[in-house]
Amino acid sequence: MGSGIGSRRTLGSRVGKGYGAWSVNREGCRVEGDKWVLGSGMGRRIWEAGGLQGLGWGAVYGVWDEDRDRGWGWGWGWGWGWGAPGAGLGPASPSSLLPAVLQTYIGNVVISVNPYQALPIYTPEKVEEYHNCSFFAVKPHIYAIADDAYRSLRDRDRDQCILITGESGAGKTEASKLVMSYVAAVSSKGEEVNKVKEQLLQSNPVLEAFGNAKTVRNDNSSRFGKYMDIEFDFKGDPLGGVISNYLLEKSRIVRQVKGERNFHIFYQLLAGASPQLLRRSRPTVWGIWRWNRSWGGIMAEVIIGFSPAEVTELLQVTAVVLKLGNVQLSSSFQASGMEACKLREICELIGLDPSTLEKALCTRTVKARDETVLTTLTVPQGYYGRDALAKNIYSRLFDWLVNRINASIQVKSDERRKAMGVLDIYGFEIFQDNGFEQFIINYCNEKLQQIFILMTLKEEQEEYVREGIQWTPVEFFDNSIICNLIENSTSGILAMLDEECLRPGVVNEDTFLTKLNQLLANHKHYESKETQNARRITDSSLPERCFRIHHYAGKVTYNVTGFIEKNNDLLFRDLSQAMWAARHALLRSLFPEGDPQKVSLKLPPTAGFQFKSSVAMLMKNLYSKNPNYIRCIKPNDTKSAMAFAPELVLAQARYLGLMENVRVRRAGYAFRQLYGPFLQRYKMLSRRTWPRWDGEDREGAEVLMAGLAFPAEELAFGHTKIFIRSPRTLFDLERQRQER
Ligand code: ADP
Ligand code: MG
Repeated sequence: MGSGIGSRRTLGSRVGKGYGAWSVNREGCRVEGDKWVLGSGMGRRIWEAGGLQGLGWGAVYGVWDEDRDRGWGWGWGWGWGWGAPGAGLGPASPSSLLPAVLQTYIGNVVISVNPYQALPIYTPEKVEEYHNCSFFAVKPHIYAIADDAYRSLRDRDRDQCILITGESGAGKTEASKLVMSYVAAVSSKGEEVNKVKEQLLQSNPVLEAFGNAKTVRNDNSSRFGKYMDIEFDFKGDPLGGVISNYLLEKSRIVRQVKGERNFHIFYQLLAGASPQLLRRSRPTVWGIWRWNRSWGGIMAEVIIGFSPAEVTELLQVTAVVLKLGNVQLSSSFQASGMEACKLREICELIGLDPSTLEKALCTRTVKARDETVLTTLTVPQGYYGRDALAKNIYSRLFDWLVNRINASIQVKSDERRKAMGVLDIYGFEIFQDNGFEQFIINYCNEKLQQIFILMTLKEEQEEYVREGIQWTPVEFFDNSIICNLIENSTSGILAMLDEECLRPGVVNEDTFLTKLNQLLANHKHYESKETQNARRITDSSLPERCFRIHHYAGKVTYNVTGFIEKNNDLLFRDLSQAMWAARHALLRSLFPEGDPQKVSLKLPPTAGFQFKSSVAMLMKNLYSKNPNYIRCIKPNDTKSAMAFAPELVLAQARYLGLMENVRVRRAGYAFRQLYGPFLQRYKMLSRRTWPRWDGEDREGAEVLMAGLAFPAEELAFGHTKIFIRSPRTLFDLERQRQER
């Protein structure tokens, strides 16, 4: 039974107190069955003490674990109080809540609720407690899964991956850091190893400075997906690592929603500058150098192994992005002295002739057959080019940064390695308005769900088949059909978008949508206003310029506006050539296509195509490893500790596929082991006069278990392994063993 408590004093001196205690039990739960259930319940209680009375209502949202005969819940409540002194009746505002638990499991998937406060559960003592723990014998914790994965890597030589998902602000990045610091804490502590650990851990603040920003959902929101392989030697000591980054949200460079900010680095850069420098507003090379010293560039230098020159270059390019944003374009651009001055500042930083930059911002060279025509851009076209330039510089700089960090942390020796991958990537997104970014992000989540199904369900089922165990296949939704709808190389939405982007002549999103409507008219998971009309669907009708996909986590309506532009991600060649002409070595290296000797007529790959390829690579990598899951949950939208919004959480439980998780766990066997080691461990429990068993291991295990009289449905004997249905039986065996 999960329970929660909420209490509230009424206002002023009325000292009344409302109090609600309530509980949720299996009956009130939404998923029926005999393992995990999620549910909610309401209760009411009248309370009386010391001449005061109160009436409280409460509700709880709970998770029930049949295996452990325990449940957890989060409750909240509100109430009224009356009585002396100065009697009166006054309503209380929604009350505080006491979360009963913040981390729990579904099978060995960790569910972690963001506490929004520093809890004393990440201390060195806790690390000790979880170090070499038995996973189910200690309280659910991120450390437990980190420990399990680490030991399995070290002792059983299996590469691991830890997949952390959840919506923005749910605590993914914090969880990934906890995993990393746990592994750092429990591996050995030689001087060399410590240096490696330090480098791995210190890559975080640098990446966060450039890749994180304040958003309405999270003050330190990662605006890129990150996958990091930590590599170990045979003893389990970290040797180094490799980081991959996915889809930096570069549109943030030029536009932020109200209440949000640009990437942290810009503010850090400015905060580090001296007032005189800011007043002068002319960051010379020397000035930048001062900024960087106060920014903590020193740290980056020493630990990540950047040279001072590299740090300076990095910050110079960052400053260029900042300064590009100040450049105003107008039809009389050339004549404006102030703008010329801004351009000169930029050009001083990067060693470029200002007239080259000005020309690239205001005009465009169009090649038509053998002719080259120079056209003057309109003001909106000019701004488009400027913004594209700023976004491109920044995102390429970010890629450079990741590569540079990789060069420092890469394993130098060629000894055989084991790897633990940690994936911290955006969860499923359903907003009021969903565009290209959500489409891509949700595609990635669809792939992660697919890999979850493949790795957990299929492997599970295949093992039962291999072992010859009676097994009723679990009903689960195979989402390949949706993945296919998006990624199929001929008829997938991404392929059609690419085709539309390549088509000569007028391309726009309307033609793209029309094409989707034609080709996907009968697809079960695709919908638009047009297909609805054709199918005579009248309820939940869709707006114009939108299509809807039925994802595994729910239906999402995407507006096609911006799809083509974002997918094309075009940078006028004049601009890349201007960047390549700069003397600034780093900046120039970011624009290799600007080399006039290497002009190629081939268009660069589209954003969608690039993403699809990197997701495919990621999936291949994950598929080669043993998966471990951390599902992060955001308890409320206000970043508050001790507040729990049930609707919000329920939606997340759905998007995170927790129901699917529950179903799989309910259907299978919790534990399995080869007969040999099993017999070795438990033969002491035999009521016969062993300790030696001369027969076959399997037969021995059967004799042993028959003597212990567990219910028949608790056990299954496969060709090579014994299967135990619920952890309770296993705990029982362990307990008996300890009592001997
Ligand atoms: P995500 O990466 O999922 O968007 P973060 O990991 O950045 O979310 O977490 C958002 C914020 O929530 C953090 O900045 C921190 O304030 C808080 N937070 C997350 N996890 C924890 C935790 N385990 N303990 C304390 N605070 C946390
Ligand atoms: Mg994050």
